[in-house]
Amino acid sequence: MYSKKFGIMGGTFDPIHYGHLVIANEVLAKYKLDRIIFVPTGNPPHKSVEGMTDAYHRYMMVQFATMTNPQFYVSNIEVYKEEVCYTVETIIELKKKYKDAEFYFITGTDAVLELPTWKSPKEILKLCKFIAVNRPGYVTDSYEEKIKIIMKQYGGLIESIKAPQLQISSTDIRERICNNRPTKYLLPETVEQYILKNQLYKCG
Ligand code: ATP
Ligand code: MG
Repeated sequence: MYSKKFGIMGGTFDPIHYGHLVIANEVLAKYKLDRIIFVPTGNPPHKSVEGMTDAYHRYMMVQFATMTNPQFYVSNIEVYKEEVCYTVETIIELKKKYKDAEFYFITGTDAVLELPTWKSPKEILKLCKFIAVNRPGYVTDSYEEKIKIIMKQYGGLIESIKAPQLQISSTDIRERICNNRPTKYLLPETVEQYILKNQLYKCG
């Protein structure tokens, strides 16, 4: 009934790095998806408290990082919203826009375990299949058990797959920049240059 398969990759992407790109590409190939839509989150309502980089910069960095892959797309659906953005509403909006597409929501193992804390997990799992990709440092013995409990509680399907393991996080990259430690080979050069030019993640 669906003629297309789209992946959705949500994140703060503060900044986007090769850990994000490699899992998106692995899911794209494994599930023969037509495209991956990266969805950077909007500005949190209490921005100064959270200290997150402005959504515009995070969105631009995702654009630069995905430029060389014709199957990677970026959505600004959450970027310019004034109010709090819930994943469930974003998925509903994307489903309205792309009626002929089946959706696969891509996360790392840390994010999928947080699904019960999101708004309307049951509805989210009805709207799309989840593909959880193992993230180094986050797969524990009880992982499979926890996934089973989530599926039992909310229904839907969460598949766990393996991708090349990159122990990279945006938090570590931000700390490295702040402490003048190298970030080369952790994220695309265009993104590194964007960070430098806009003086992002400076300390103090
Ligand atoms: P932060 O340290 O700021 O939380 P992050 O590196 O975790 O940043 P996010 O934007 O929070 O990046 O993550 C977006 C999605 O990408 C999440 O589903 C997360 O689990 C996944 N992800 C991030 N880094 C990796 C990685 N190295 N390997 C696998 N999945 C990852
Ligand atoms: Mg994270």
